[in-house]
Amino acid sequence: MATVANNTMDRIVALCRRRGFIFQSSEIYGGINGFWDYGPLGVELKRNIKEAWWHDMVHARDDMVGLDCTIIMHPHVWKVSGHYDLFSDKMVDCKATKNRYRADQLCVVKNRTDSGTNRMYAFVESDDESRARAEKKLAKHEKTKPPLPDEQYHVKPLLEIPGGEFHRVVGPDADEPGTLTEPRDFNLMFETYTGAVRDEDNKAFLRPETAQGIFVNFKNVCDSTRIKLPFGIAQMGKSFRNEITPRNFIFRSREFEQMEIEFFCHPDESNRWYEYWRDRRLQWYVDLGLASDRLRLREHGKEELSHYSCGTSDIEYAYPFLAEGDFGELEGVAHRGDFDLRSHMEGKLASQDGKLVLDVDANGKPRYKGSGKDLTYFDTERKERFVPHVVEPSAGADRATLAFICEAYTVDESRPSPELMKFHPRIAPIKAAVFPLVAKDGLPDIAEPIYRALRARWPVQYDAKQSIGKRYARMDEAGTPYCFTVDGQTKEDGTVTVRDRDTGRQERIDKSRCAEYLAEGIDR
Ligand code: ATP
Repeated sequence: MATVANNTMDRIVALCRRRGFIFQSSEIYGGINGFWDYGPLGVELKRNIKEAWWHDMVHARDDMVGLDCTIIMHPHVWKVSGHYDLFSDKMVDCKATKNRYRADQLCVVKNRTDSGTNRMYAFVESDDESRARAEKKLAKHEKTKPPLPDEQYHVKPLLEIPGGEFHRVVGPDADEPGTLTEPRDFNLMFETYTGAVRDEDNKAFLRPETAQGIFVNFKNVCDSTRIKLPFGIAQMGKSFRNEITPRNFIFRSREFEQMEIEFFCHPDESNRWYEYWRDRRLQWYVDLGLASDRLRLREHGKEELSHYSCGTSDIEYAYPFLAEGDFGELEGVAHRGDFDLRSHMEGKLASQDGKLVLDVDANGKPRYKGSGKDLTYFDTERKERFVPHVVEPSAGADRATLAFICEAYTVDESRPSPELMKFHPRIAPIKAAVFPLVAKDGLPDIAEPIYRALRARWPVQYDAKQSIGKRYARMDEAGTPYCFTVDGQTKEDGTVTVRDRDTGRQERIDKSRCAEYLAEGIDR
């Protein structure tokens, strides 16, 4: 992690806490790892992002309907979808420190001579401090000084170290070798029980994605609406993953919100729709203010694709906690073929020689049976029955919120209070503030009705305390795009000043035009 980036992230996290965007969950008890709460400003910001998504993806289109499914579903859903068997990460435990790590995030630094007696020092790949600690320990052991020369020492992913050599590895937070367990699968689904008896029959799971609720309701939606293919079903809501190493603020948490679309279409048209959704979703972020140089689209290589996918792209953002030049996933857009509907119809599928076949046990019996319900679609124009193909744009509301926060965070040293949040007015938590310049001389009597009129339509704040500079600074930190100030001149000619958050420039407009001005700013 580069130092500058690190500082920026620390300052963003500090501002989020200080101004009430995001708090650690259960903070008064020391917090709980991987869970976060949204404060008064954060909840508005996240709601605005979700509402913008729902408006633009559902309300503004003729080919989309919404859905809101339960978090706990029939446990068989997860067996058929593959999550029960496959939704796991490899993890290693440290017997000495009791810390747990994702195996794919660990590397070791080791001596190139590799005599078999050398130690290897493990560290967390994306954490510069962890790496520095490992290098220091290795240098001490080998009686040399960091930095270690490249020709003598090198770094390898832990997963490439043969199991028989684990006794030589020193864990990232341990002092002696041999305390790391070998990597083993760890299912990320949270388990719970329905009803009073806690046995296997009553075991259920908190959904790790919202998508499956859409697939299992596909027939219900077709039967209860008049919507015709191609069309999409959108859903947003909480998902839960027992991430081994939740980290990077709200980027990877254990409880988070997703905004997912399953777009159903004829197989012949699926590539075109895949390209459409990839580009449409990227543009959505750009339109809401994510600068295109920190945002990119990355098409997965063939080796990265899931066995059923004909194409997947990630929309990625250069989050400041990442090293310079690195990007993190903001949204995935996947062409899923007919995998999901067919699985829920026929039973869990597996890929064999590039084809999807029923996953069977040694006796040829399906491992997990499907619903047996007909999830095909009859296209009246084509006069054809088929299993629709699916394109899935799957976004995280929290990762989007984090990207918008990082993008908005600006330091302008020329201002008395240098930190400001340049949110697009559409997602800004507070749309405007109304101030009387001083809380006397009849100015509050003019300002209050302006405030009440605006508040009837938007979240707007009124503030008559402190100096005007301090009030502007508070609004800048909250990301409020406009401040209307009533001053002495208002009494003479009925005009107020409007101050623009990003430029600090002020202009005078008639006080009757405040609502119109704000509406134009929000719709820009
Ligand atoms: P990653 O590789 O980062 O774990 P993923 O590929 O498993 O992500 P998907 O299963 O494609 O993620 O989920 C779709 C979206 O849900 C992601 O693009 C991300 O925005 C969001 N998401 C997934 N896991 C988390 C998490 N643990 N915390 C916050 N958001 C998440």
